[in-house]
Amino acid sequence: MQHVTPNPGLCSHCANARVIENPRGSTFILCTLSESDPRFPKYPRLPVLSCDGFEESDPAQQRCTSSS
Ligand code: SF4
Repeated sequence: MQHVTPNPGLCSHCANARVIENPRGSTFILCTLSESDPRFPKYPRLPVLSCDGFEESDPAQQRCTSSS
């Protein structure tokens, strides 16, 4: 994931996080779970230290699958 300031905590390795960059170059996290579940803010307050929606992003999916 792209560098985000401040440290996003759990969001930095969550499958539901998207990094958004605004025209001024600031980066922030958009939580895609917010689209389907109102418990989650669209732009979570960082760092997120505990979250019921956290899903570990699978680094293997982001790599080329050369072993199959
Ligand atoms: S589900 Fe939680 S940890 Fe994952 S992106 Fe949303 S706020 Fe961050």
